[in-house]
Amino acid sequence: AFNDSAAMSVNIHVNSPNVRYTDTHIVAQYQYHTTSVSKEGNKVTVTPCTTEMTFRTERHVPQLGVMLVGWGGNNGTTVTATVLANKLGLTWRNKTGVKKANYFGSLLQASTVCLGSGLEGEVNVPFRDLLPMVHPNDIIFDGWDISSMDLGSAMERAQVLDWSLQEQLRPHMSQIKPRPSIYIPEFIAANQESRADNVLTGTLAEQVEQVRADIRDFRKSSGVDRVIVLWTANTERFCDIIAGTNDTAENLLAAIQAGAEEISPSTLFAVASILEDCAFINGSPQNTFVPGAIELAVQKGVFIGGDDFKSGQTKIKSVLVDFLVSAGIKPTSIVSYNHLGNNDGKNLSAPQQFRSKEISKSNVVDDMVRSNPILYQPGEKPDHCVVIKYVPCVGDSKRAMDEYTSEIMMGGTNTIALHNTCEDSLLASPIILDLVILTELCQRVTVRPQGERDFQSFHSVLALLSFLCKAPLVPPGTPVINAFFRQRASIENIMRACLGLPPQNHMLLEHKLQ
Ligand code: NAD
Repeated sequence: AFNDSAAMSVNIHVNSPNVRYTDTHIVAQYQYHTTSVSKEGNKVTVTPCTTEMTFRTERHVPQLGVMLVGWGGNNGTTVTATVLANKLGLTWRNKTGVKKANYFGSLLQASTVCLGSGLEGEVNVPFRDLLPMVHPNDIIFDGWDISSMDLGSAMERAQVLDWSLQEQLRPHMSQIKPRPSIYIPEFIAANQESRADNVLTGTLAEQVEQVRADIRDFRKSSGVDRVIVLWTANTERFCDIIAGTNDTAENLLAAIQAGAEEISPSTLFAVASILEDCAFINGSPQNTFVPGAIELAVQKGVFIGGDDFKSGQTKIKSVLVDFLVSAGIKPTSIVSYNHLGNNDGKNLSAPQQFRSKEISKSNVVDDMVRSNPILYQPGEKPDHCVVIKYVPCVGDSKRAMDEYTSEIMMGGTNTIALHNTCEDSLLASPIILDLVILTELCQRVTVRPQGERDFQSFHSVLALLSFLCKAPLVPPGTPVINAFFRQRASIENIMRACLGLPPQNHMLLEHKLQ
């Protein structure tokens, strides 16, 4: 009864005068339909607009290398082990029977999109087959950790994967050791200090140079074409934004040279990656992307994305509040308790690191609330409270308990209570894969609006990754979308545009007319 997803793969060919397949590219002419809306008093005028665009997607899929910061952590070891287990086609027994390696939880590998209908009815295809994309089995991993433990022992320390699977993986995993990393104790909880036996020394500038040398070394020794760096290390405290230190790209680079304070290890990694022309993704909540780092990425034309993997409680929130508000029901309070017992939880038990998480979890309902002025007055929001406690006993199986109270018709109250056992790293690992695979794909897509000469890339701040992030980073001045299905539709429809296909509209008119 194994669901062999590889066997389900399809080869999509678009039959349209607007789509050309060359040896190197898929070139699609596309009409982008939008509306321009103006409002005067209660009079709203809507003007449909159409922009002609050409989407061009490189067909050659490069060999992708991914460098994880925090490689020896629960996520780092779990994603590495999972890819290895899939590559080797491993099966193992646990108390419920035989299990087979898979990528459940990955948008690209384990979910489908509806292409349309044919004689046999609706045709759903794996998301990953829409465009040429890296397969996770082909990713080569490398990375850094402040803990020197080899990945076999670190996988055991994480207590995530079944023991009989670990036994099969250990001979491979134990040969891998993370590279020494940048450690500035005041950014993570003091309780992490005992792990830090694998740290770089020297000035900030020298440490950034070493990280850059590591990236070059990995690229050369592994032979990969592209490297993406992803932060899955501990949550840091927020940085102060200080004029002259981290407010502009120039100041940030100068501050690193001068060894200034208030520059976090994650920002140093971001800077090193950007300078090596490698996309950088932040899977934790802290403000790694200080204004200077964003400006540097824009100047160098390198993708950055984040923040904070959207894996459990927040994912549900971005579904549930979307459902409630779009159904005309008014959430008035959202209370979320978490307890977890892994090293992430231990780190988050310190107030400043908890505060980073609290901030990243706090804005997730804003766009949905703002979208409905019938339910909410300007500035009105549901009460929203987030609590996180460290309970070692539950390990990586984070418990998330939520209570959603909503006002319904005629002064009534509706209360929804949820209990979610998250298996945190098993939820985050497929998200890590989606993040890097989508980012790599975006590096091969360019767009030329009608009337312009050159093809352009997406903005360096890769908002397309919002679906996978709790606190989506978007280009300055552009809207943040948290609503789950809008985020998903954005990815699907942009990929469809690359194939010259109209957005998925779910109208099914062919079945609704006489
Ligand atoms: P973890 O504590 O098991 O792993 C983090 C690793 O980072 C540790 O091995 C630690 O030694 C290492 N580390 C700390 N500082 C470092 C530095 N400066 N350089 C290199 N390595 C460093 O935690 P985890 O469960 O793997 O989670 C990792 C991060 O992902 C956390 O910040 C967490 O908040 C975030 N996150 C996790 C999830 C999830 O579902 N698992 C969801 C959202 C966000």
